[in-house]
Amino acid sequence: MSSNEIVIVGGGPAGSSAALWLARSGHPVTLVEKKEFPREKTCGDGLTPRAILQLDEMGFDFDVPQFHRITGLRSYAADDVMLEMEWPQHSRFPSWGGVIRRKDLDQQVAALAEKEGVTVRSGTEAHPVVEGGALRGVDLKRNGETERLDPSFVIIADGSLDRFGRGLGTSRRRDYPMGLAARGYFSSPRSADPFLESQLDIRDSTGASMPGYGWVFPLGDGEINVGVGLLSTFKRWKHVNTTVMMQDYVEAASDYWGISADKATSDPKGGKLTMSFSKSPQVGENWLVIGDAVGAINPWNGEGISYAYETGRIAAGLVSDAVGTGDPAILQRYPDILDEEYGLYYKMARIFVKLIGNPPVMRALAHTGLRNRPLMEWTLKVMANLLDEDDKHLGEHIYRTLAVMTKTLPV
Ligand SMILES: Cc1cc2nc3c(=O)[nH]c(=O)nc-3n(C[C@H](O)[C@H](O)[C@H](O)COP(=O)(O)OP(=O)(O)OC[C@H]3O[C@@H](n4cnc5c(N)ncnc54)[C@H](O)[C@@H]3O)c2cc1C
Repeated sequence: MSSNEIVIVGGGPAGSSAALWLARSGHPVTLVEKKEFPREKTCGDGLTPRAILQLDEMGFDFDVPQFHRITGLRSYAADDVMLEMEWPQHSRFPSWGGVIRRKDLDQQVAALAEKEGVTVRSGTEAHPVVEGGALRGVDLKRNGETERLDPSFVIIADGSLDRFGRGLGTSRRRDYPMGLAARGYFSSPRSADPFLESQLDIRDSTGASMPGYGWVFPLGDGEINVGVGLLSTFKRWKHVNTTVMMQDYVEAASDYWGISADKATSDPKGGKLTMSFSKSPQVGENWLVIGDAVGAINPWNGEGISYAYETGRIAAGLVSDAVGTGDPAILQRYPDILDEEYGLYYKMARIFVKLIGNPPVMRALAHTGLRNRPLMEWTLKVMANLLDEDDKHLGEHIYRTLAVMTKTLPV
């Protein structure tokens, strides 16, 4: 490989997005994915309008049979309060979302990148070649063979475990929140439901409140994705077994889903959610870190796919400029761009998740909030990062006031 080529490590949403945007700008790119497509990824499979916008701009075909269109969110606080809300109207984002299994989504987006000219090397694991603390090359391992590449730039998109990045010294801030979640697939008569569903007050088999939340995301193909999650800001989070929590949630889920343990079509699987840009460094002399590997997940709602696409696109722009100008120092703008784009919003999220880390506070907020439609519609906009710049009603003023206040708080 000639040294003007760019290597991207990881073929999930972050890596495929970076690869696609670089190839579209005319750069030679190799996307390395250690698994073969289609590959499973533990996820809720839910896409908000933010993700839809990115997919649309990449050229995704929403008419594929695996894609199920979603018009909004239905939220519960135990059995007593429920509110159904459509996605908001926005000047930039569409007012619809979707659910699609990650094995289908990621394969289809990688195929889009390939169509743009990206060389996709699946079934191949990338390892950093580090000399004197600097990244000097990438070893590709496949079927016991090793091949050395000597790219000019490397974009690291290897997900929440971030083994490649750790070889370069990346680590997670322990004082920032982290999520734990588990999901499983179930057959359900209500698989065509057009709403994502969340449960903000979940109980165990004895009826006692648990710290965390639950979801049901319908796939439209006879199955639903059911999951539970909790944050490291929740008390006792280290003692919670998400698999047991999930069993309890399945038993307690609304009857209309028609689910029970014997309707499971897969074993439950868990994973970590690295959020709030908790990973650093974000950039080196010739590399950038994107998606879960940099901790890009939104702490407000645990959404990571759209932020993986977005950070991939930002990184692609910087690398493209660095190649175009011959000035690798352009990469060093990355932390400032992330801070400008997400810094304040994620800082506010850290305050919010600290607050709801106290289960009685979360329960009280859920039970009172869900009785107030305008408040919850605004909350949905905030949590899904869909506030419109031009939208000047009361909610935005409160948001901006909070924003000013959080600037002065040490979070
Ligand atoms: C249970 C759960 C539910 C979730 N639900 C949602 C949801 O509903 N909606 C949402 O938006 N987000 C959700 N998320 C978050 C979302 O899954 C992630 O934010 C998203 O996958 C991040 O994309 P990524 O490309 O950064 O990483 P990944 O999707 O993890 O992709 C990383 C890729 O890199 C590959 N790789 C790793 N190391 C190497 C290597 N050395 N060489 C080559 N390849 C390598 C891996 O095989 C993998 O394919 C959920 C997460 C969990 C755990």
